[in-house]
Amino acid sequence: MLYYSTNHQSPKVDFKEATIKGQAPDKGLYFPEEVPLLPHDFITEIESYSRAEIALQVIQPYVGDTIPVKELEPIVKETIDFKFPLVPITDRISALELFHGPTLAFKDVGARFMSRCLAYFVKEQSQKVTVLVATSGDTGGAVANGFYDVDGVNVVILYPSGKVSSIQELQLTTLGKNITALEIDGSFDDCQQLVKQAFADSEINKQAFLTSANSINVARWLPQQFYYFFAYKYWADKSCVPVISVPSGNFGNICAGLMAHRSGLPVHRFIAACNANDCVPNYLQTGRFQPKDAIATLSNAMDVGNPSNFVRILEIFEQQFHSLKEVLTGYTVTDEETKEVIKEVYEQHHYLLDPHGAVGYAALNRYLQDHKDEKGFILETAHPIKFYDVIEPIIQQKIELPHAVKKLSSNAKHSIKMPVNYAQFKDYLMANCSK
Ligand SMILES: *Cc1c(COP(=O)(O)O)cnc(C)c1O
Repeated sequence: MLYYSTNHQSPKVDFKEATIKGQAPDKGLYFPEEVPLLPHDFITEIESYSRAEIALQVIQPYVGDTIPVKELEPIVKETIDFKFPLVPITDRISALELFHGPTLAFKDVGARFMSRCLAYFVKEQSQKVTVLVATSGDTGGAVANGFYDVDGVNVVILYPSGKVSSIQELQLTTLGKNITALEIDGSFDDCQQLVKQAFADSEINKQAFLTSANSINVARWLPQQFYYFFAYKYWADKSCVPVISVPSGNFGNICAGLMAHRSGLPVHRFIAACNANDCVPNYLQTGRFQPKDAIATLSNAMDVGNPSNFVRILEIFEQQFHSLKEVLTGYTVTDEETKEVIKEVYEQHHYLLDPHGAVGYAALNRYLQDHKDEKGFILETAHPIKFYDVIEPIIQQKIELPHAVKKLSSNAKHSIKMPVNYAQFKDYLMANCSK
């Protein structure tokens, strides 16, 4: 399988090169030359396959011969080494819980897969790589955890001081070993800018082998298909094909679902559930794509004004607006509505949503009111505890800390504080990173 750049100005590459490069040199996103069609029997008999078998079948064509199957098998197994339950909330809405991984958000799946693939490629090349990543919250923890103690890989995470939640900060700063957290006295955009500048700096690139672990990397994007297939395995009433609501920010997760659908996964419709950052729902209404500056909301992991994966959505539907509209619907949900939904679902159905899942729930609920004979599920993308400061006042109760979080709070925080100053950041990299 080869990958082309969505800007069509760079050579095609295999999975290994796409993973190592992250973004194509022409600044386009890598996209597979063809979308594999899964055997019909695989779909109709999905209940008889284990989760590991499903995941391997889905990802193998994308990886091709860059990782031998006997090496790919344990990578896939470790990636999905936790549960993915489909939990009913009402008789028409369920939640596919994606927060049972080590950092309590769905990003664990992509980060675990990518880190293991990169570790395999690095071992082959006997080079040391430095993974540079800027985070606004969940990405940093998932990447840190995924790469923790991996031989040949150093991880440098930049995060905006005081602007991530306390649990997110603990997840970034307490691991140590090959993981370093730089606490930047600025915003997420400042962190992102420093990282971009380093990638463009030939002096640093001569000395260190830099790579990025952000969500446009194919090795983070494509394994997110796994749990859409798991959900179908668990979906009881196969005669009523599900509607799937995906809380969306950068649109990587929903794009993975759309790829699964193109490979043959039965899905009635996808709902792009957005907060006030609603340029995709607006696009679906008007046909015009107008990115904006990000607006801060309660579902902060979805505060993206210009979603990078939008170009991949267009690619999936071959730039055809009308075929896209047949599969994808978008809704915008306000912070007020998000709070109401958390309270209502907790009181009436005894299910605690996190703010991101609540946006997904509100959108699906709105859709189902106009489509009385349909049913569906939301992707519950994070554990509510990650946002306890938002949730506890809404439900007026304390939330019980899961074991993984209790353990975290007893660890010591280690971060290197730094102003928004490129020279200082560069000095750090030059002194600490090499091939
Ligand atoms: C990252 C994130 C999202 C948004 O996912 P995209 O793939 O960027 O659309 C939604 N919810 C949570 C909890 C996240 O961490």
